[in-house]
Amino acid sequence: MMDVKVFGVVGAGQMGNGIAQVAAASGLEVVMNDISETFVSNGLKNIVKNLGRSVDKGNLSQQDKDQILGRIKTSTDLNDMKSCDFVVEAASEKEPIKFQIFRTLDEVCPAGAILSTNTSSIPIGRVASQTKRPEMVIGMHFMNPVPVMKLCEIIRGIATAEETFKLTWDLAVKFGKTPAEANDYPGFIANRILMPMINEAVYCLYHGVGTREAIDTVMKLGMNHPMGPLALADLIGLDTCLAIMETLYGGFCDSKYRPCPLLRKYVEAGWLGRKTGKGFYEYT
Ligand code: NAD
Repeated sequence: MMDVKVFGVVGAGQMGNGIAQVAAASGLEVVMNDISETFVSNGLKNIVKNLGRSVDKGNLSQQDKDQILGRIKTSTDLNDMKSCDFVVEAASEKEPIKFQIFRTLDEVCPAGAILSTNTSSIPIGRVASQTKRPEMVIGMHFMNPVPVMKLCEIIRGIATAEETFKLTWDLAVKFGKTPAEANDYPGFIANRILMPMINEAVYCLYHGVGTREAIDTVMKLGMNHPMGPLALADLIGLDTCLAIMETLYGGFCDSKYRPCPLLRKYVEAGWLGRKTGKGFYEYT
């Protein structure tokens, strides 16, 4: 089995820089790519800040921090991925963007390199079909924030080879994550279960079953969830929640996945949650 030495990350946003951090912390050389110098340096700043916090807490030595940072190279040119044995794509959740990235990666990466995507909802098979190596394409779905959350959902596309799956699984373990295996159906496992729950919480608000506080309190104290579903939706982004519900609804053609009209109304108004200062709650 191939030994991964150089790990590529495409997209240096909230997910991408977290993935680059855990990969570098596990000892791999990392190439972190984004479309502009500004995005890459913001990603790197976030890694520096996170590692600095671990040093302050006494969980990491200054020397280890420097070594981790020393293993991360930044790039604004996808051609730099030619040195990578394994790439995870964590660019924006838009099919045309991901398709273009996978077509380019397929051309520039070595023949044996595995190409994975951190997509929340785009079918792995659809991404794989953009390449001439669908057996080496797989879903590697990390949770936010990546350095903290233990889960890595690994999604087999219909053409994914067993060896690709095993290698990806082992890599997740090397990163300190607990992998869980899923097949390529809309929403995979995590969002197939989480999003309908969030959507149902929005329906409770829409129907006046409870206030936002009552709904979140019931799920926090009654079900021991660390956050209420409406507060969690604000954290994820209401546009993202709506997009995932649309994927489930379109993918299964089943009315049980219909997005709540109130969720759509908030998104249309630009109330996207924390990132815009207002969602189900207000943020200052
Ligand atoms: P983000 O907007 O923070 O980051 C996306 C980054 O991709 C941006 O920096 C953008 O400049 C970059 N990008 C766009 N086009 C690119 C291109 N052609 N080449 C290189 N970089 C490009 O988004 P995010 O929250 O980090 O999400 C990234 C992916 O991870 C998405 O597929 C999303 O569905 C998935 N995901 C997100 C979460 C979450 O909670 N945010 C959780 C799991 C998975």
